[in-house]
Amino acid sequence: MRIDNKTKYKTAELKKFFYECIKHSPVCPDKFAKNLTVRVNPAKYRISGRAYLGKVFHHFKKKEVLGFLITMIIPKPEGYHLKPVDKNALPAGAKASIAWVFIHEMHHCAGKHHNDMAGSYFNNPHRPEWSDIAGTSEAWAHDLPLTLETPKVKVVKTSLQKAEEKLEHCRLKVKEHTAKLNKRKTLLKKWNKKLKYYTNRMLDLSVGETACNGKDESK
Ligand SMILES: [Zn+2]
Repeated sequence: MRIDNKTKYKTAELKKFFYECIKHSPVCPDKFAKNLTVRVNPAKYRISGRAYLGKVFHHFKKKEVLGFLITMIIPKPEGYHLKPVDKNALPAGAKASIAWVFIHEMHHCAGKHHNDMAGSYFNNPHRPEWSDIAGTSEAWAHDLPLTLETPKVKVVKTSLQKAEEKLEHCRLKVKEHTAKLNKRKTLLKKWNKKLKYYTNRMLDLSVGETACNGKDESK
């Protein structure tokens, strides 16, 4: 299941919530959850949903083409008409309604029109108003969490704090370049020493050779 979350509700909680709905749904086609995308859009105060209607080809090996997208429209806790106690979490009744709407949309994905939903609570002629019954059978959803993300507090640094950070950075850079400089100094010292040695060695050898040549000439 993929969640395309356009609300401030925690995505992980939404995902868990919809998996629970699938578990409790009387209709659940094979591999439904795997291929499903749930888009969650914000609403002002109402809970509603939309889904792509699936299709079952009864005469062709019962091949199913399932709806793969459900759009759920969910209000913020403060917008929901029951006036929640907690402004960061939806009340139990609202969650049961969301579950009801989601399972209703699942039926559409499985290719069911409203009239095909008879036999369940989805289109019972004795219960004409869906809005009155939505969520009455979904008490299991009451305790599932659906809460808002806690907004990240942006830390504003003072000029003093910024200057302190810059100073610390300068200290580190001075330390780093001093270490590099010292290493170079050591290397320079080593090569100067070698240079001196081989300069002297050259002198010694050329003096020795001149002396030898002089000897030869005297013969
Ligand atoms: Zn419908």
